[in-house]
Amino acid sequence: MDDDLSTSPRANPHDTPRANPHDAAPREEPDEARHEASREALLQALLDGLPAEAVLSDPQVTASYATDMASFCAAGTPAAVVLPRTVEQVQHVLRTATALRVPVVPQGARTGLSGAANASDGCIVLSLVKMDRILEISAVDRIAVVEPGVVNAVLSRAVAAQGLYYPPDPSSWEQCTIGGNIGTASGGLCCVKYGVTAEYVLGLDVVLADGRLLRTGRRTAKGVAGYDITRLFVGSEGSLGVVVGAVLGLRPAPPRQLALAAEFPSAAAACAAVCAVMEAGLTPSLLELMDRTTVRAVNALGKMGLPESTEALLLAAFDTPHAPDDLAAVAELCTAAGATAVVPAEDEAESELLLQARRMSLTALEALRPATMIDDVCVPRSRLAEMLDGTSEIARAHDLLIGVCAHAGDGNTHPVVCFDPADEDEARRARSSFDAIMALGLSLGGTITGEHGVGVLKKDWLARELGPVGLEVQRNVKRAFDPLGLLNPGKVF
Ligand SMILES: Cc1cc2nc3c(=O)[nH]c(=O)nc-3n(C[C@H](O)[C@H](O)[C@H](O)COP(=O)(O)OP(=O)(O)OC[C@H]3O[C@@H](n4cnc5c(N)ncnc54)[C@H](O)[C@@H]3O)c2cc1C
Repeated sequence: MDDDLSTSPRANPHDTPRANPHDAAPREEPDEARHEASREALLQALLDGLPAEAVLSDPQVTASYATDMASFCAAGTPAAVVLPRTVEQVQHVLRTATALRVPVVPQGARTGLSGAANASDGCIVLSLVKMDRILEISAVDRIAVVEPGVVNAVLSRAVAAQGLYYPPDPSSWEQCTIGGNIGTASGGLCCVKYGVTAEYVLGLDVVLADGRLLRTGRRTAKGVAGYDITRLFVGSEGSLGVVVGAVLGLRPAPPRQLALAAEFPSAAAACAAVCAVMEAGLTPSLLELMDRTTVRAVNALGKMGLPESTEALLLAAFDTPHAPDDLAAVAELCTAAGATAVVPAEDEAESELLLQARRMSLTALEALRPATMIDDVCVPRSRLAEMLDGTSEIARAHDLLIGVCAHAGDGNTHPVVCFDPADEDEARRARSSFDAIMALGLSLGGTITGEHGVGVLKKDWLARELGPVGLEVQRNVKRAFDPLGLLNPGKVF
């Protein structure tokens, strides 16, 4: 496992076999020549159905598409990067890949945190970012029809202009794409009330590994015809097909949210407040936690003026017409759970500032040390305090800085292990603590990933969570869609 800790992109062990290092030198040149010839053949076949500007082959340029934001995960060197603009162009890429047996790695904005969009050696990186049109917004049907490269925030603003709301809001919403959100089944800050991406994907257009176009799901309010293949694609990390279109559910725009911040002397006290809020039947539109390390990191990065003496800061918000009353009820519950201060935002603008501080958390923690590994363990809310206390214990035992921010209302924690990969011992302790956090999550009845996906980073842990039968069924599903194993190989399993 320590193997994955390099900060520089490296060969993916699941890719095509490489020359044996013990082989004599003279064999290298013909191998390289053969490799170059097959790359040339691939480029020519791609160009037979694509405009020249859609195919990037300069190694310096293609190398820049090798990784997502989990830059320490293993990555290979792409043979080409393709930036299609139409469904037909995507179909051409997949037909070519199948004919030549070349792996394909679909990519959105590469903000993923698990290496799921990392290139494999000799692959075609298929970046969908230029397919970025919003094709339809219907207030009557409450749907948007989009191409996969639409940026989440662009869609959110476009539907808001028509009095509508697309809830899934990952903190990376200004960069990440709808295709990537579907690929990872991403969540965000508002999920405690509105749920995750899966709840909003009604139908999909998907190009299969052999180039055929599959249409799944519906644009109706209801529909149960056949198996729910749409849902199967959500969170499949580009391993079953390439999403080229999506029908997304929308809601009427709620009032803007009002927020409060509560300071606690311990993470456990903040978690007790979270449980009390849920038990009281309140439905906040946001219930987020930042530990002391996160608060300080955010202040250092964004000069946000958050209270640095707090052990845990809880942010709650409501987007109801009676938000002040709901916030007053939360304030009371926080005080009863031991909050040392509860500060309601003055207005919507101040509430938005608090949200910005929370959105900044991962970036701020990443700035603390040369490298970070971001865990994503989700536990039942009732076990959240044990999760946070256990994580502190793991940090102490491994002598490491681990900051935690959490979608507390969902029980979804992001312990961020901060380390220096140049220090071998620290890097080893970092990986060990990262694993210990996942083990703790599973022991509390949780999952190794609430929203970031498995990718390369957690595939060794998937089997532990699914068990042998679960794993076998999932592998059979993969084979049914991708019998040649060309779609995003080396990810998930
Ligand atoms: C600062 C920061 C904050 C973040 N906050 C959150 C958060 O709050 N919640 C959250 O869930 N995530 C969060 N993330 C993680 C990341 O932004 C999400 O996983 C996001 O959904 C990835 O979108 P992307 O467009 O960057 O996709 P990529 O990273 O490019 O790809 C992600 C996966 O989707 C696949 N994929 C992409 N496009 C397609 C397609 N068209 N068809 C098939 N497969 C495809 C890829 O193969 C890959 O497996 C955060 C990341 C950062 C850097």
